[in-house]
Amino acid sequence: MSSKDWLEKDFYAVLGVDKAASSDEIKKTYRKVARESHPDRNPGNTQAEERFKAASEAYDVLSDDRKRREYDEMRSLFGSGAFRRNARAGGPGGFPFDPSDLFGGMGGQQPGAGARFGGGAGFSDLFGSIFSGGGGAAGRRGPTRGRDVEAEVVLDFSDAVHGVTLPLTLRAPGVCETCHGNGAKPGSQPRACPQCHGAGVVTRDQGSFSFSEPCRECQGVGTIVDEKCPECRGSGGVTKTRTLNVRFPAGVADGQRIRLAGRGEPGDRGGPAGDLFVLVKVRADDLFGRSGDNLTLTVPITFAEAALGTDLRVPTLDGAVTLRVPAGTPSGRTLRARGKGVVRRDGQAGDLLVTVEIMVPTDLSDEARKALETFADHTPSAGREQIEARVRRSS
Ligand SMILES: [Zn+2]
Ligand SMILES: [Zn+2]
Repeated sequence: MSSKDWLEKDFYAVLGVDKAASSDEIKKTYRKVARESHPDRNPGNTQAEERFKAASEAYDVLSDDRKRREYDEMRSLFGSGAFRRNARAGGPGGFPFDPSDLFGGMGGQQPGAGARFGGGAGFSDLFGSIFSGGGGAAGRRGPTRGRDVEAEVVLDFSDAVHGVTLPLTLRAPGVCETCHGNGAKPGSQPRACPQCHGAGVVTRDQGSFSFSEPCRECQGVGTIVDEKCPECRGSGGVTKTRTLNVRFPAGVADGQRIRLAGRGEPGDRGGPAGDLFVLVKVRADDLFGRSGDNLTLTVPITFAEAALGTDLRVPTLDGAVTLRVPAGTPSGRTLRARGKGVVRRDGQAGDLLVTVEIMVPTDLSDEARKALETFADHTPSAGREQIEARVRRSS
C-alpha cells in the first residue's frame, strides 16, 4: 500500500459505499463483497479475484479511522481525478487538453509545450510534507522535478531596447474544484466500474501466461460517472489561468530566451519546480535596425552633400543628434554616433551606426541639368583608366 495508490484509487467506489458511510456500513458492505468474490467460491475466476483484492485493500484503509481520515484529507487536497487520469496516461500531464491551447494573451502558439499547473504555488510543498517518510511512495517514484514550460512574447522594438515589464498570461490545466476532479455532478458519486471493480486494469489469460491491460469500460479510471459535473463536463479538469509579471531587460534581442527559474510546472513529491522559458520576438522598427547592442540607420543624402560635406540631423531612440558628413564621403560609408545604441543593464551602451546612401536624381529640372553638364565639363575622370585599357586590348 503506497500513498500513490491512495491518490489513484477511490476506495468508496470500490466498495460501493457513500463517502459519509458509517464504519458499521463499511464493515457490512465489505463482508458482503468479500464473501461474494472470495477465491474459494470462485475458483479460476480472475475477475472475482481482482475484486476481492481491491475490496480488501479498500477495507484496510476505510476500516481504520486514522487511515481513513488521512485518505479523505489527501484526496480532497489533491483531487482524486487528476491523479487517476495521470495514471491512465502512464505519466504526468495526462489531461485531455490540447497543448496548443495552453498559452494565451501574448500571441504565438506553443507546440508541444508541457504546461500543467496542478494546484498553485504551495503544491509541491504540501506534497513533500505529506509524503515525507512514506516509504512506499518514495520507493516507487522519488521526487520529480516539474517540467519546463515555454511561452512566447512579442515586444515592440523600443520596449526591447529600453526594457519592459509585461504581464504574461499562462493557461494550464488544473483540477476542477466543483467535483474535486472526480468528474461527477456535486451530490452524486462515481460508481465503481463493473468490469474491473475499480481496479482500472483487467487481467487476461493467454495460454500459459496472463497480462494486465487498462480496462476498456472505464478507460482505466476505475470508476464510471453517470451524472457529469456541469463545470468540467465530466473530465475532472478545467483550464486555469495564471498571470506572471515578467521583466524583460533592456537590450533583449529577437530570438533570445528568458529563463525564469522555478516558474514552470510544479514538481511532484517535493521535487523542485521546472523553469519557465519565454522566447522573445521583437517587432521591426520603421527606421532602426539592430546589430547586437548597436542600432543601425540608413540615411539618404544628395551627391552635393556627399561631395561638399554637411551636418546631418538624425533621430536616435532618445532625442536627435547631429553627425558631421565630411566632404568627399562615398556612398555606403557608415558614420558612428557613440553611445547612442542600446543601453544594457550594466550601463554599457552600443553605438548608432548611420550609413549614408547617395541618391541619384531621376527627374532633373532644366537648371539642374545645365548645372550638372557644367559640372561634368570641369570634373576629373571617374578613374576608369585600367578598365578602359583592358577594353582596348580585348577588342
Ligand atoms: Zn468538475
Ligand atoms: Zn473498469
